[in-house]
Amino acid sequence: MRITALAGGVGGARFLRGLLHHLERTGDEAAELTVIGNTGDDITLFGLRVCPDLDTLLYTLGGAVDEGQGWGRADESHHVAAELAALGATPTWFSLGDKDFATHIYRSQLLAQGMPLSGVTARLASRWGLPDRRVTLLPMTDTPVETHVVLDEGDGSRAIHFQQWWVRHQAALPAERFVVAGLDGATPAPGVLDAIRAADVVLLPPSNPVVSIGIILGVPGVRDALRGARAPVVGVSPLIGGRPVRGHADVCLRTIGVASTSEAVAGLYADFLDGWLVDDADPMAGRMRPVVTARPLLMSSLEAAADIAGAAFDLGVRLAAKDSAT
Ligand code: GDP
Ligand code: CA
Repeated sequence: MRITALAGGVGGARFLRGLLHHLERTGDEAAELTVIGNTGDDITLFGLRVCPDLDTLLYTLGGAVDEGQGWGRADESHHVAAELAALGATPTWFSLGDKDFATHIYRSQLLAQGMPLSGVTARLASRWGLPDRRVTLLPMTDTPVETHVVLDEGDGSRAIHFQQWWVRHQAALPAERFVVAGLDGATPAPGVLDAIRAADVVLLPPSNPVVSIGIILGVPGVRDALRGARAPVVGVSPLIGGRPVRGHADVCLRTIGVASTSEAVAGLYADFLDGWLVDDADPMAGRMRPVVTARPLLMSSLEAAADIAGAAFDLGVRLAAKDSAT
């Protein structure tokens, strides 16, 4: 069974950790998981290339994430950041721990030696034992891309990096639109399109539909591959009662003119979505496509995340069986 998933950071990582737990507890050891990670959040800080979503996936699936935050390393110290602040280095609004710094130093070293991001990510994935768990982590593209936010200041003239808007300003500066620098000319990283085409089930975790999943879908070729995939595509809503569980997905949705409802989020994927999990608090009329299942969607524990991921996976398997029967 080949499973392919698109993922942002915390929501994607918690869901996928749940999926692996589900597969382990059901004894499904033959399953292979390929994760296509968002790189639109990537940023260069202190000369180092930082890939927040890929790192959240690595640390979470590798069992080393700070559980409270959902990102960064557990048992972290911040000596380097304190020293940088004492030197007057900026920015000071992006938190990087000492262990985390090692990841960015190593990544930057390999990139400077000419290794593509996909190669670097494979190295880091080995460090976290992902191959042993039959997990492949791919960046959506090796082309450097960065999501920027055009601020709504009347003349559309000022854009800031997505991280500055999200982390520093907590998405409180009115945004006019998102622009992803480099995306038009980006090519999917090696293996990305094949992973979608060869999958038996494609899963969309409850990642941010605009600035995580939406960015991956913007990589030329990815959306077409999903439309043409023989596998069913099953997604999980990131909203419970019309509100994001964490982060500012509602603000992102408003910025692109989409309502903050599970139904409207499904609409963003309408051209390829076959199955959709919504929370019991978000009723959606029964329909032919996507097939909607309502259940609790709060990933309050590893077991709860495994139950949700298992429900998404099982729906995908059911839809695949129905496809092959017709
Ligand atoms: P980020 O890159 O760290 O922001 O993470 P993602 O894009 O992968 O996921 C963020 C989304 O995950 C947010 O829109 C949240 O609403 C959603 N999310 C987080 N925890 C949960 C949860 O327990 N249940 C559901 N359904 N969604 C969640
Ligand atoms: Ca992110």
